[in-house]
Amino acid sequence: MPTLASDDAFAEVKAKVDLVKVVQEHVRLTKRNKDYWGLCPFHQEDSPSFHVNPQRQSWYCFGCERKGDVFTFVELIEKTDKRGALLMLAERAGVELKQLNPAQKERADTKKRVLAMLKLAAQYYEYVLWKSPAGDPGRKLLESRHVGEETARKFQLGYAPAGRGFAEYLRAKKRSLMEAQDAGLMRRDGTDFFAERLVIPIRDERGQVLAFTARTVRQDEQRKYINSPETSAYIKGRVVFGLDLARDEIARRGHATVMEGQFDVITAHQFGVTNTVASSGTALTEEQVRLLKRFTDELLLVFDSDRAGREASRKASVLAAQNSMRTRVIAVPGAKDPDEFLRAAGPDAVERWEELVAKAPSGFEAGMAEDAAGLNPSNPNQVERVASRLREWIREFPSSLREGYAEAAERHTGISRHLLLQEQPEPSRPVRPTTNGLPPLRRPGAGKLTASGYLMQLLAVRPVAFDCVRTRLTAEELDPDDRSIFTRMLGSYDRGGPSGLEVDLADYPPEEQNLIRRAWAAPPPNVDDEVAVELTERIRLDHMKGMHSGIIRELSEAERGRDSERVARLETEARELARAITDMERRS
Ligand SMILES: [Zn+2]
Repeated sequence: MPTLASDDAFAEVKAKVDLVKVVQEHVRLTKRNKDYWGLCPFHQEDSPSFHVNPQRQSWYCFGCERKGDVFTFVELIEKTDKRGALLMLAERAGVELKQLNPAQKERADTKKRVLAMLKLAAQYYEYVLWKSPAGDPGRKLLESRHVGEETARKFQLGYAPAGRGFAEYLRAKKRSLMEAQDAGLMRRDGTDFFAERLVIPIRDERGQVLAFTARTVRQDEQRKYINSPETSAYIKGRVVFGLDLARDEIARRGHATVMEGQFDVITAHQFGVTNTVASSGTALTEEQVRLLKRFTDELLLVFDSDRAGREASRKASVLAAQNSMRTRVIAVPGAKDPDEFLRAAGPDAVERWEELVAKAPSGFEAGMAEDAAGLNPSNPNQVERVASRLREWIREFPSSLREGYAEAAERHTGISRHLLLQEQPEPSRPVRPTTNGLPPLRRPGAGKLTASGYLMQLLAVRPVAFDCVRTRLTAEELDPDDRSIFTRMLGSYDRGGPSGLEVDLADYPPEEQNLIRRAWAAPPPNVDDEVAVELTERIRLDHMKGMHSGIIRELSEAERGRDSERVARLETEARELARAITDMERRS
């Protein structure tokens, strides 16, 4: 058995893995003669300059001039070091290495155990759904959704019965219950985390079960869906639901259909739209876009038609464009979601769907139509408002696309493309609210105004908002620059009430006086308690995310130092924090 650091180890692993296959998991390669070409994953480009030579097992990018072998590729793409790359590739090649870093070995082992446990659980749930009387509620739910057994089995749907069924199953198999707890399947008392729910495995693009999402069958249950916690096997936002089943059809049709919910995807497959995937409970992330880009250049976005769905669709369009992908947007007519639409269409589902696909505007056009809706060209105020919205919308896309988009917007609205491409908008520009009703955090000429900075302005204008802010936020959670003014203003409020700030202002340091006077002269657009509360939540979330990345940095340090105790402690901290962040994001 080669030791980890020895040259033998590198040689043996290199002999067993194929660079082309490894690269293909991240880059879509096209064969030309004996070589392969693709878009470089390490720099932004539109035409392929990334070249793989299978004979020499080497790669080279003519654009950014990075190059190397399979180890350097994995190092760069997985953001790991040489040893990390060796570990990953050794595992894949089935080469056993001894003398691993104990912490790393433990992590690899834990992950392996979690994956094995998830696989077992999926088999158990599937068995219960089809073969046990206890699976009856699950089968009824599927029936009501018109999902047949064939489709359900493709997705390996299952049912978790009430009580401790899975624990008993594990006991009979002489398996540890602890492992099931680690895998997020069981509570400490042995009850099933997903009890009385239809269980949907979340699998990676190779079909490996990484987690579950589960829909309740009870009418009285408030939480319709619950998800596995993040584990060593599952990181939210990295998996694309349904990709293992859809990947071939995506390649064949040249686009992927992206829906919001897992059930939408299952119904879509049931009705023959089999290139469908879902982002799985989050907005589409950069990592998911990159994953999809390995299979296609075009995403067909099918999100709910409510405000949140439209915003998600806009964000996804921009994200895709930033990764040189095209998007089209489908609005499902006369139904609240694609699931309902397809079920209503029944046997004509594929045909009706194709009609929608054929009419679907691009992601940019869909946003443009929305921004320009109801425009009356003879009303100058309206024209200016629409122009400013479109200007912002165009500016979200990569600069290479903007001119073409401005032209399209000119055709659609009659507003001059020059006006739409103008860099400096007029100061009177109206503010466009973002998803949660807050205006974008910018002030002219001063770059981005942070949530923390916004809150300081708000408190200067409306000191009574301290009543709802002070219990939710501590000064430490604010940007460092804002901590002292926060504490000082709170002191003034405590002493003098709403007018305390005016009384004390002369004693404030000059830069703080400035800030407050500026806020008084030009208050931020929305000043009320509700906005204050939203801001505190945003600030706390940012603060927690900052702490989380701090811990992750510390974690890699601890791993390098082989300090397994510290690693374990930090991992726990990171996990708890990640959970708190997810909770908070879900609530907001
Ligand atoms: Zn490159």
